[in-house]
Amino acid sequence: MTDNLSCILYGKNDIRLEQRPIPKAGPNQLLIRVKTVGICGSDVHFCLHGAIGNFIVKEPMVLGHESAGIVEAVGENVRGFSVGDRVAMEPGLSCKECQHCKTGSYNLCPDSRFFATPPTDGSLARYVAHDADFCFKLPENVSLEEGALCEPLSVAVYASRRAHLQIGQNVLITGAGPIGFLCLLTAKAMGVSSVVITDLDDGRLALAKKAGADHIVNVRGKSQDDLRCEITSAFGGSMPDVSMECTGAQPCVETAITLTKSGGIVVLIGLGASRIEIPIIEASTREVDIRGIFRYANCYPTALQLIASGKLNLLRDLTTADYQLEDAVKAFERAQKADVIKHKKYYIFDPINI
Ligand code: NAD
Ligand code: ZN
Repeated sequence: MTDNLSCILYGKNDIRLEQRPIPKAGPNQLLIRVKTVGICGSDVHFCLHGAIGNFIVKEPMVLGHESAGIVEAVGENVRGFSVGDRVAMEPGLSCKECQHCKTGSYNLCPDSRFFATPPTDGSLARYVAHDADFCFKLPENVSLEEGALCEPLSVAVYASRRAHLQIGQNVLITGAGPIGFLCLLTAKAMGVSSVVITDLDDGRLALAKKAGADHIVNVRGKSQDDLRCEITSAFGGSMPDVSMECTGAQPCVETAITLTKSGGIVVLIGLGASRIEIPIIEASTREVDIRGIFRYANCYPTALQLIASGKLNLLRDLTTADYQLEDAVKAFERAQKADVIKHKKYYIFDPINI
């Protein structure tokens, strides 16, 4: 066992496939034979720009963070896992000692390390060693691809918790990319009564409609007043109880704040420009709570249960393209083109032994 082919980003547009030593599972870790890795927007962003904000790729870094695989070896202190178990890997590890970690908000840990966020290596390799605490056994009816999709799905699950989503509510989602789309599926699975989703792209909106959106709105060329009329009439004359902002674009943040009903909640999921103008008095005087989210905490088990229960069907609703690890560079090129793949989800997997 020597082959640990790894997909490594050296800098802007410089991805190389190289061998790295196979890691050893530490006492509290599992050694995982990686089977499926999704490529998401942040992987592509690192690849194109060599950085996201203050996270700059200074040393070669293994890419990939949406991953699932099979347990190959079990660290000496680990209980409850056996060789051969299929697991999803939650990509962020936290210190377990700070106040945030101790109170369950480990996503806010200042010392967290997250797959493929410099300087931490990701999981787009044949093998990875990962803390057993952050590995989750897949129920029998959940595939390895779905296990990898638990990562973005956890963002949607966490956003819906931050939004206090409740049965019967009206929900506005701005942005029909993978994250907005997963927020739609999650909100529907939670029993909200009506979802309006917006985007600039008719193709993405059509897929959202097919997947259960009650109304779709293409915002192109429309003023905030136009959108107010169109979206409130789509909700039968009401304003949404909750808005989930999944673009990071200023006009969408503005729409979310001005349209959410007084006393409602806006969750800012999209990350765009670091400073934007927002209608702050409107939010203050109508008590519209604006809440950020940073990744997720304690959401993998829920995401897995949602998939296992059949309440949402990720593989049917998210278009995918499959590549083998050897073709990772091609997969990244295709991800950048975003041509036929409506939701820009790509899977790299090693079909041998699946
Ligand atoms: P994406 O880029 O694939 O999708 C964004 C969608 O927004 C696209 O469909 C695009 O057409 C649409 N859009 C862009 N500008 C718009 C505008 N002005 N009006 C209407 N629609 C517009 O991205 P994604 O993978 O779906 O992620 C969505 C956002 O969530 C990104 O900003 C990403 O960085 C962020 N994100 C945040 C977290 C977090 O922890 N807060 C986690 C994951 C992703
Ligand atoms: Zn911590």
